[in-house]
Amino acid sequence: MLFHFLVSLFIVAASGDPINESLGPGDDNFISRQSAALLVEVAGTLDKVRPAILEPRERALALRLLDAVLHDTHAPNREAVQHFYHARIEAAVKQIEESRVAEGMRIWKLYNHGFVVRTPSITIAFDLYRGPAKFRWDGPDERKVVDSPGFPLSDALAQRIAAQCDALFISHEHRDHADPVFAEAFLKLGKPVVAPESVLQDTPQHARITHMKREAHTVQTLPIQGGKINLQVVIYPGQQYQGKGVPNNVTLVISPEGYTFAHNGDQINDPYPEYQEDFKWIDAVKNHHRVDVLMTNCWSNDLLRMVRGFNPQLVVPGHENELGHQMNDRVPFWGDEEYLQLNLSEVKAEFPTLRMTWGESFHFVPKREAR
Ligand SMILES: [Zn+2]
Repeated sequence: MLFHFLVSLFIVAASGDPINESLGPGDDNFISRQSAALLVEVAGTLDKVRPAILEPRERALALRLLDAVLHDTHAPNREAVQHFYHARIEAAVKQIEESRVAEGMRIWKLYNHGFVVRTPSITIAFDLYRGPAKFRWDGPDERKVVDSPGFPLSDALAQRIAAQCDALFISHEHRDHADPVFAEAFLKLGKPVVAPESVLQDTPQHARITHMKREAHTVQTLPIQGGKINLQVVIYPGQQYQGKGVPNNVTLVISPEGYTFAHNGDQINDPYPEYQEDFKWIDAVKNHHRVDVLMTNCWSNDLLRMVRGFNPQLVVPGHENELGHQMNDRVPFWGDEEYLQLNLSEVKAEFPTLRMTWGESFHFVPKREAR
C-alpha cells in the first residue's frame, strides 16, 4: 500500500502540474498517456493507408480516433499531440522540398485550413498558419483562454515552407488564417502575399501585402517567380458572414498548365437561407470557370449548394478540429452534422471528396474532357 502510494506520488511529481487543472493529477496523467497511445495508432494507420477518394474504413476509423484525442479540452498542451503535429508537418515539408510534380497537382494539407498546391510549374499556398498559441476553454462557470506556447510550428519551419512556394493567399483577417510569421517569410523572399485590406492591419507586413480586386469571375494577373510567370487569379468577394461580414477572399488560381484550384477560406452564409448575397456569385462560378479542385471549410452553411456552384472534380474539406476553438466548436471528422445542421455527407455522395489531416498529401490529375 505504502509502495503504491509512493509510486503514485512519484508519477505525479515527475509529470509536473496537471495540464488540465480541472482534472486530478491521476486522471490528467492518464489522458496524456492515452493520447500518446492512441496517436501511435493514428499515425501508424495514416502512414499505411494513404488518402484516397474512396476512403478505406481504416482511415475513417483513424480520423475518428484523432477526433477523440483532439476533443480533450487541453489537447494543444499535451506533449503527444504537439509531437504528432510537429512530426507530421516536418515530414510534409521534407516531401515538399524533395518532390516535383510531372502532371496534375499535389495538394498538401498543413494546419488546418492551410494548403500548399504544386503543379509542374508553380507552388501556391493558402492560409498557412503555425497553429494556436492559445485556445478557448469552456469551463463549468466561464470561458477561459489557455496558453499553448508549445503547439505552434517553429518560425524556422514556416520559413522552409515559404521557401518552397511562389505566393501566399490569405483569405481573411482571423488569426487562424492570417499568420504574420508566414506573411513575413514570403515577403522577405520577395514573394507576393495576397489578402483583403483588413488582413494584418497595424502590422509591419500590411504595406507590402498585395490587395487584388475582389470581383466575381474576373481573371486578374499576379506576377510570381520574379515576374517569370503571370499567374491567373480570380478573387471572389466572399465574406465570413455570420450576421455581419468579415471580408473573405475566395481565391481561384489557374495554373500555366490550365489546372484550376479554389480555396474558400472561412466563407459562410449565416443565417441561411435568409442571407443570400454571396450566393449570387457562388451559384455561378461554374458558368465562368472550370474548377478542378475546391478546398472548402467543412462547416459552411449549405455546403452542397456552394460545391454545386463551383462544380469541382474534387472536393478537399478543411478546418476540422480547429484547436484554437473551445472543444465543442472543433468540428470533428465525424461531422456532428445533425447538431450543426450541415450537409457535408451529401457533398460526399455527389462529388468525389478527399479527406486528409495535418501533413497529408494527394496527387490529383484532373480529367481534361468536358464532363
Ligand atoms: Zn477559420
